[in-house]
Amino acid sequence: MSKSHQIIATRLSVAKSSASIAAKASADAMRAAGREIIDFTTGEPDFPTPGHIVQAGVQALQSGHTRYTASAGTLALRQAVLRKLSRENQLSYEIGEVVVGSGAKPIIFNAFMSTLEPGDEVIVPAPYWVSYPEMVLLNGGVPKVVECASDTGFKISAAALANAITQKTKWLVLNSPNNPSGAVYSEDELRAIGEVLLKNPQVHILTDEIYEHFVYGSTRHLSLLNTTPALQSRTLLVNGCSKTYAMTGWRIGFGAGPAHLIKAITLLITQSTTCATAAAQAAAVVALDGPQDCVVSAAKTFEDRRNHMVQRLNAIDGFECEVPDGAFYVFASVAGLIGRKRRDGRDICTDLDVAEFIREEAGVVAIDGTSYGLSPYLRFSFASSLNEIDKGCDAIAAAVSQLQH
Ligand code: PLP
Repeated sequence: MSKSHQIIATRLSVAKSSASIAAKASADAMRAAGREIIDFTTGEPDFPTPGHIVQAGVQALQSGHTRYTASAGTLALRQAVLRKLSRENQLSYEIGEVVVGSGAKPIIFNAFMSTLEPGDEVIVPAPYWVSYPEMVLLNGGVPKVVECASDTGFKISAAALANAITQKTKWLVLNSPNNPSGAVYSEDELRAIGEVLLKNPQVHILTDEIYEHFVYGSTRHLSLLNTTPALQSRTLLVNGCSKTYAMTGWRIGFGAGPAHLIKAITLLITQSTTCATAAAQAAAVVALDGPQDCVVSAAKTFEDRRNHMVQRLNAIDGFECEVPDGAFYVFASVAGLIGRKRRDGRDICTDLDVAEFIREEAGVVAIDGTSYGLSPYLRFSFASSLNEIDKGCDAIAAAVSQLQH
């Protein structure tokens, strides 16, 4: 190792950088090199932030919201979060039980940092959002990945959960609607999971509900706390404005949980980022309290695209996908392509090979299931236009037709 690398602490060696951010960077690099690329890696809505929210942010800047705020978030935003949780989730919290962060991501990171002792286990059902295991590792914990196959709808069953719990289990991460599978836990599934958790008081629950408003058809989003309210004293509910209001760049997320945990997370904010951006917090109050028709219309747009993408992908030889109930991703099996040969003689052995193949031969970028802990799959984001979906699927179908059996 060269001398310049010796400055990097060994604790960083356990984690890798985010696969989705890396895939996006590779798409951007190919585009910069002049290649036409169809990018299905997008982890954010492709619409602008609704005008009334932007307006609120501009007004906040003009009226002096340009300074530090309280580390837990402004009182106005924390009160708006309490109203949101009561109105949309039928959950009741005190003001000392909510904290605002610079996105949902640092809330999750800080929750692990403030609770994990070396060797503590965190159950992460796979497929999972790429950051959970890395955040656990960075904070000295041990991710206990439980693979949840397509025949269980990519969801952890109560039985699988009971099997995975040990005396060292500190957290279960429950992400519904799920990134990358789009799976949404039903009331019965949550109740069964809740019963297992009631019997295991050492386990805390991190329920990541960031995609809650993107559920389709007759699917309803429910929180574990709706079915099993007795878990509230050991549950951290995480949500935010990024996906719901197309506000990824504003960096506003929030957490709700027991006061001692919220206090610990706030302490870490105090000593790291100080607070979320003041004007973004003011805009988030308007997002949460204001008209919600922008959310309804975004969900409708995503639903149309979901239907189209599933139909187009299923028509491609070697691809197979279920209709996701939520989020804005299709998690497609590419098992049918494993074992085929490329024109240059290279074998397709894994989903990483499929991702490379469609990137090189079709100019389409999607993320391999390996990065999400379940193979052989590819995650396709449908936060792109119907036209892009058509162009991408046409290009993949043409490339696949050249593969040899
Ligand atoms: N949780 C999940 C499941 C996500 O997919 C993402 C972003 O991709 C986040 C949390 C992070 O959201 P934020 O932008 O609020 O940090």
